[in-house]
Formats: sequence, structure tokens, C-alpha cells
Amino acid sequence: MKQVYMETFGCQMNVADTDRMELLLFQSGYLHTPHVEDADLVLINTCSIREKAEQKVFSLFGGLKPLKQANPDLILGVAGCLAQQEQTVLMNRIPFLDFIVGPDAVESIQQIIHRVELGEGPIVWTEFDSEKNYSIPEQPLIKDPGPSAFVNIIKGCDKFCSFCVVPFTRGREKSREAGEIYAEIRQLVDKGAKEIVLLGQNVNAYGKRGLEQPVAFHELLYGIADIKGVERLRFITSHPMDFTRELIAAYRDIDILMNHLHLPVQSGSNRILELMRRSHTTEWYMDLIAQLKSEVPDIALSTDIIVGFPGETRQDFEGTLKLMEQVRFNNSYMFTYSPRPNTPALEMADDISHEEKQERLQQTIQLQNRLTEENSQAFLGQEVEVLIESVTSRRGMSFRGRSPHYWSVVFKGGEDHLKPGDVTRVRVEEANGHVLKGNWAANRHCSARSDGGRGEL
Ligand code: SF4
Repeated sequence: MKQVYMETFGCQMNVADTDRMELLLFQSGYLHTPHVEDADLVLINTCSIREKAEQKVFSLFGGLKPLKQANPDLILGVAGCLAQQEQTVLMNRIPFLDFIVGPDAVESIQQIIHRVELGEGPIVWTEFDSEKNYSIPEQPLIKDPGPSAFVNIIKGCDKFCSFCVVPFTRGREKSREAGEIYAEIRQLVDKGAKEIVLLGQNVNAYGKRGLEQPVAFHELLYGIADIKGVERLRFITSHPMDFTRELIAAYRDIDILMNHLHLPVQSGSNRILELMRRSHTTEWYMDLIAQLKSEVPDIALSTDIIVGFPGETRQDFEGTLKLMEQVRFNNSYMFTYSPRPNTPALEMADDISHEEKQERLQQTIQLQNRLTEENSQAFLGQEVEVLIESVTSRRGMSFRGRSPHYWSVVFKGGEDHLKPGDVTRVRVEEANGHVLKGNWAANRHCSARSDGGRGEL
């Protein structure tokens, strides 16, 4: 068989797309290799959400040029959001590219490679098919999914936040038929997956568009909870405006839905939220959190934050710090604003200096580190339920996994009893930030479905 080397930048949707292309390429005779120098095909799945990710891709291809010169039959391709957004720039800057494939054309990768092999390259395949429903036809799996598996349920985004490229690179929202999702989950569970993580750029908008048989997002969650073998359920990434009362009730009612929610807020200033076209206010966001906490008091929250958005005053920024302190997020993905092509924010004056952006970012990181540290202390001396994801020998520990609240947990003990995929209990002895450390709480091995984290604290 021929060999394919793949590298992925960006979000979990990109990781899922890479996995899908690997599976399809396997059917075309390509085996995955971790060594680029052994490859017959190199496929880089790119991200354009930030400028830095783009630069990394260009420098990566600089390193691939000698390989192509030494072996002109080597096929080089770019997939993902950068491919969608910068087709001409990519072709000009990397003239030895054989193909470009956009995120909407992942299912066409076999045809693209076939055409390149026939000498028809370079090929650019970046059209959005607005007529076609979103479908990922079932295929036999070529590798075990591991204890935690990702499942795409919706693609694209209709929100058009003023800083974001996603609606331009991934297109409008389209949901996948529930029956197809259930079938994929059954297949993953049969292969050993215990946790299912539903993916979408705007995952809780699921069901609004593109379904022949309409199913609301919360109904999909109840449907998945009925599938035998699914022990944990999560979803990323949600938009506050698509959060329904029924979804809040689902958090309360579905035992296997983990008590963790990633809910981007982006800013703690209503003025900046309006400029960002987020369509929610800080009051609306806080009220949603209060409703969630009234149903699920110990729900763990994480968020995305952008600092230094055009026009952000010191006062606006202080609002973000205040909101973080009020919600007490467990974790935040924090970035300085960077202007992106095609976005409405590009028209605004990027008027915060680099130094000031960095200063605000550092302040945000420091605050989040303190909140994470303080939140982690609540687990000291407690037992937490852990889905074991892997064996580890780091720092004298035995296994690594995740608690329902999405804390990373490493623990000692249980080597003769446990394996990845097991759900067990761990007594936390050390809690200093993002990782909880502890010992296996022997004889408390859980074989039943998870309790979603309820009652742990
Ligand atoms: S909701 Fe998320 S993916 Fe959609 S435009 Fe806004 S930031 Fe981008």
C-alpha cells in the first residue's frame, strides 16, 4: 500500500475531518504513516481562525519543498479552512501543491487523489454544495476510536460574529440526520468507545436546518442517551443564544450528560459584544448561567475570551475580568484579537497596540489560573469518577483520564485491575490547577453508567 502523512491544525472539527479523510484514503490504498519522509501523499489540514496558525502552515510547506524536489511523484495537499479561504494565495506561495480541498469537500478526497494520480493536478475543490444535505455515510472503521470519540452532528455557522471566519470557510449551518448519527455512535460503542463528544461549530443550533426529519438538539441528546453502551455524553461548542429551556432540562434529566459546559462569552462588555455581533448581552449570559446552576448546581463552565477587540477600552476589559470572576470558569481559551480576511471586524480600526493586547491577555491568563487553582481545591480529599483514557508512567502515576467536570485526572494504582475505557473512582490527593492527582479508590470500580458528576462534591 501507499502511505499518507497527515497533520492537523485547529479545532476538533478539523481533527474529525482528518480522521474521516484517513479512513477514505485507506479505502483508496493509503496507509497512515507518522514519518513524512516515507509518505507518498502529504495532507495538511489547516486552520485560519488566527494568523499564527496560517504562518505555521506556510513554514511547514517550506520544509516539504525539498521532499517534493527529490520525489516529484509525492502528492502534496492542503485541506481545511485556510484552503477554503486562501486558495489563490496558497497556490501562489506553494506552487508545487497538487491539490486544495475545502472543509465541505472532505467526502470527495478519494476522487481528488484519483484525479491527481491521473496527472490532472493541481486541483482546487472548494465549492459549497448548498443543495446537498450534510451526510457522513457509514464506513467500516480502520482503527479503534479509543474511550472518547468525536461525532460531527452539524457543520457551518449562521451567526456571523464580526471577528470570525467560520461562516465563510465552513458555510451555513447544516445538520446531519439523527438516524445517521445514532448509527455512527452504535458503531463507535461496538468498537469500545465509552464517551461520545458531539461536535459542531455551533453545536446547539442542531436541528434548525437541513433535516428531512426534524429533531431538536435536546431530543437528539435523549436519543443518544438511550443507546446501550454510551456511558458519557458531551458536546462542543455552544452559542448562548441557541440554549433552550429544554436543553437546560436535559442537563438535569440525562444522567450520562456530563456536568460540564463550554459556553463562549468572548467579552464582558455589552458595547464590545454588540460590535462583535454576538447577539447576547452579559446580563443574558449571566441569567443563562443562573438558570443552568439552578437545575445543575455543580455544573463546571469553561469559555472563550477575546481581548483587545477594536475599540475595547480599559473599562470594557475590566468588565471581562469581572464577568470571569462572577462565573468562576474552570478554564478559558483566551486570545488577543487578530483581524481575519473577509470578516466585518476587518473594517474596524485595530486600535489597541500589540503591547496593550498582550498586557490584557496576561492579566486574563493570571486571573483564569487563579480561578482554576481555587476551583480545583474543592476536589481535595474527594473521590471523583474517572473515565480512563490512557496508561501513563509520568511522575510515578498509572493512568490518565477525565472527571465528569472535564478535569484531567492522573492517578496511581489499579494496574492489575484497570485498563483504558474503564470508569473508576479516584481519591484526589493533590489539586493544583488543571490536573487533579490522586490514588485509585480500590474496590469502588464503576461498571454502571456514569452519574454525570452529580453528587461528587
Ligand atoms: S458562533 Fe462561533 S463559529 Fe459562529 S460566527 Fe460566532 S464565533 Fe464563529
